[in-house]
Amino acid sequence: MFTLEGKTILVTGGTRGIGRAIVEAVLAAGGRVAFTYRGSQELAETLVAQAPERLRSYQADVTDAKRAEAIVNDILQVWKRLDGLVNNAGITQDNLLLRMTEAQWDAVLNTNLKGPFLYTKAVLKPMLAQRSGSIVNISSIVGLQGNPGQANYAAAKAGLIAFTRSVAREIGSRNIRVNAIAPGFIRTDMTANLPAEEWRKTIPLGRLGEPQEVAALCAFLLSDQAAYITGQVFVIDGGMI
Ligand code: NAP
Repeated sequence: MFTLEGKTILVTGGTRGIGRAIVEAVLAAGGRVAFTYRGSQELAETLVAQAPERLRSYQADVTDAKRAEAIVNDILQVWKRLDGLVNNAGITQDNLLLRMTEAQWDAVLNTNLKGPFLYTKAVLKPMLAQRSGSIVNISSIVGLQGNPGQANYAAAKAGLIAFTRSVAREIGSRNIRVNAIAPGFIRTDMTANLPAEEWRKTIPLGRLGEPQEVAALCAFLLSDQAAYITGQVFVIDGGMI
């Protein structure tokens, strides 16, 4: 079994869905978690109340570079170290390409790709000083195979995979690992309005994935038991692709 005891992890978008499951999985494995959210303050407060000594929440838009730096500095002041980062916060703004607006393109690229760039940059200094760290980027199978109506989302998620592989090569010699997870169809608010029955037919395991199933893989990648794994993309999709 792996453990995250003594480790401090930063998760973006920790209030709902996959991010929330990751926060809870890290907590269950013995770690401390700082998580961000954009708007759901109430959800953040109830989550922190589960274990106030090992959880901290920060309101922040992932596209705000200064806020990312301030959050990392605050975590270091309070907990003295930062062992892991999960770039999870993400949005969709679907449209066929002909109808896709520049604003829809920018919103998805900024949140899903620029956000991970800003947060990775912000955690790099403390991780370099510690000579250790694990970064997990939540991509998507859409970034591997594309999806009609999601050109913006697919481009951002494919970009995140290329970002993962590049940064893993850049900082591997400093004992900082970077991996990506590419989930399929996971039961969260993001997929609540999609035709699940239609999709189910394309999933060999015959069901949607649960956020906890993605979180378990993520928690393992954050741990020292995954110390020789970097630059990889892990598909977790019930056999879809
Ligand atoms: P979700 O249920 O919609 O939750 C999204 C989370 O991200 C929330 O905590 C939200 O905060 C936060 N967030 C959104 N925009 C933000 C911003 N600009 N700044 C800071 N936080 C922000 O989504 P999910 O389904 O769990 O998805 C999580 C990640 O997995 C995303 O990157 C998504 O692309 C990826 N993914 C999901 C699936 C799936 O089937 N669900 C499949 C593949 C990949 P608030 O609560 O404050 O809004």
